[in-house]
Amino acid sequence: MPRVRFAPSPTGFLHVGGARTALFNWLYARSQGGTFVLRIEDTDQERSTEESYAAILRGMQWLGLDWDEGPQAGGEAGPYLQSERLDIYRGHLATLADGGHVYKCFCSAQDLEDREQAVRDAGGNWEGYDGHCRDLTAEQVAAYEADGKPCAWRLRTPTEGSTFWYDVIVGKREFQNEVLVDRVVFKADGFPTYQFAVVVDDHLMQISHVLRGDDHVSNTPFQILVYNALGWKPPKFGHMPMILGPDKKRLSKRHGATSVEEFRKLGILPAAMLNYLALLGWSPGGSGDEVMDAAAIIKKFSLKKVNSSPAAFDYDKLNHINSEHIKRLSADERLALARPIIAERGWRLDPEWLVAGVADTDSYLARVLGTLGNRFSSLITLPEQIGFFFTDDHFVDQAAWDEHVDTAEAAGLMMALADAIDSGLDLAQAQAAAAFEEVIRTTAEQLDVKAGQLIHPSRVALTGQSRSAGIFEVMELMGARRTVARLRKAADA
Ligand code: GLU
Repeated sequence: MPRVRFAPSPTGFLHVGGARTALFNWLYARSQGGTFVLRIEDTDQERSTEESYAAILRGMQWLGLDWDEGPQAGGEAGPYLQSERLDIYRGHLATLADGGHVYKCFCSAQDLEDREQAVRDAGGNWEGYDGHCRDLTAEQVAAYEADGKPCAWRLRTPTEGSTFWYDVIVGKREFQNEVLVDRVVFKADGFPTYQFAVVVDDHLMQISHVLRGDDHVSNTPFQILVYNALGWKPPKFGHMPMILGPDKKRLSKRHGATSVEEFRKLGILPAAMLNYLALLGWSPGGSGDEVMDAAAIIKKFSLKKVNSSPAAFDYDKLNHINSEHIKRLSADERLALARPIIAERGWRLDPEWLVAGVADTDSYLARVLGTLGNRFSSLITLPEQIGFFFTDDHFVDQAAWDEHVDTAEAAGLMMALADAIDSGLDLAQAQAAAAFEEVIRTTAEQLDVKAGQLIHPSRVALTGQSRSAGIFEVMELMGARRTVARLRKAADA
């Protein structure tokens, strides 16, 4: 059974790229009956923060990506925070040192910078390290140590041959060893580097497949050399294509929201986000529907169908998928989504509105949402769409208002209708849609106009919009008294 992991560094929010990496690992584990491990790579003490750690966990929980082992979940291969595994790394460093696979490097950051500058000034290329300490004699090492110079440890990489792997996504990748740099595996501050800790952990946690972003392709040969030096068999690697913005440049803040948290605030449902992320670099194949819930995606997911070319993030498509997810929700689920949105605005049922069969805000909201049907397609536009039911201070489509309400003819018709409702219906009672319909039809006949001539201006006067649910139902939910008041106010305006 595969064991996969998501290994974020807690140095920022959970972004689209990381979320997709987490998702593909999760999908692979869930589709194969495998294990999904969450490991926090916090060995960079300066850049790691508690906030970021919390945000990453929150983002994963929001998306519904549950992990079988890791922080909070526990597991036999723990601890799952690298900062709690320092002794383990030290032990394996000792093994490498005993085998002569690593050497001490006394170069300070300044030394490296100076030499890099000199190489560049002379028109050369600096690949990251020049092998300065690779062949120090025992006396030189002793002298540095006697001076109290701090040292890092570097892996002694081979200078001949090549390092390759069969990537499960991009196919065979091969690097000539002569271009591989002796990177640091242990820093002078006593912390392992990512390059070392990742290998030790993936091995000890028995990770079978390392699925990650293709920005790590250049790290993989070095990591394979670390596996070799430790006498371990590397896992399978799969590098997922980069995510581009709509302009085909690497996705960044410039393009809009990039963190999962931002998308949540933009009203994207977790199921829609998960669905869209899954389609970034993967497709179910065939002519199947792309709108899927997690269970459907798990059923269809296969690594073979992960694309190796870059995927472009399409904000419009995400919004479309989001609206499709909202459309597929049950009335109760929609209610659950809308409840906090109206609560946040302090919108609630006023008993004075007298609406038939409605006793509390929840049942009122349910009826209001019922009038929307499939026009409920975004959490962001919802307040605009239903605000008029709750407050006089609601969204108004000014162009529609000017055209349909703000004319002398419309004013006369609305006033006549308001008077007819006032005299024809008992304002102290809840009134059904049919009662309003009857008044409108009779009034139209009396005025010798079409019912539509009364309905158009009334719709905009009551709702602020030219599209709404059936006007009779709107009136029922608004209550007779408010209906009359709004019509009169619009006519007077
Ligand atoms: N901590 C690394 C990162 O966040 C993980 C890379 C990997 O998956 O090996 O990029």
